[in-house]
Amino acid sequence: MPSPLPAIVCAICFALPGCAPLSPENAELRRLEREIQVLEARLRQDPQPLGDWYPEYCTVHETRLRKDTVRILYGLPGEFVVQEWREARETQFPFAYTWGWGGCSFSNDSPKRVRVKFCPDCRTRRAEWVRDFEQRWLQQQPPATQASSH
Ligand SMILES: [Zn+2]
Repeated sequence: MPSPLPAIVCAICFALPGCAPLSPENAELRRLEREIQVLEARLRQDPQPLGDWYPEYCTVHETRLRKDTVRILYGLPGEFVVQEWREARETQFPFAYTWGWGGCSFSNDSPKRVRVKFCPDCRTRRAEWVRDFEQRWLQQQPPATQASSH
């Protein structure tokens, strides 16, 4: 037996002034409100859906990209701030995607993970590069002293 609920909802809807046939401006406003609701729901999705901007193959290694789900970082990651790292990322491992960027601001209900496509060769190269970068960075630091460890 079909539920009487849709008929009741329609009857209520047509009885309310706010649900009366819409002017073109109101209809456009409602359409925009629905579009915003869809976009807001998409922004809260966890994991975030896969973007449609990925090529099929890595532009550096010509390796076919694979799918993965990775954590989202918020704020300004070192990979963006350190010029040497940024340049290496662009030229040596553009599709490592070991994490996704969520922008600068976040709240408790911000998504934690995102679906990505990555190049396994980029991930290998990135791991090598980061290891080398950390070694060089540590060698540049003065040795820890008693005074600095209080
Ligand atoms: Zn690659």
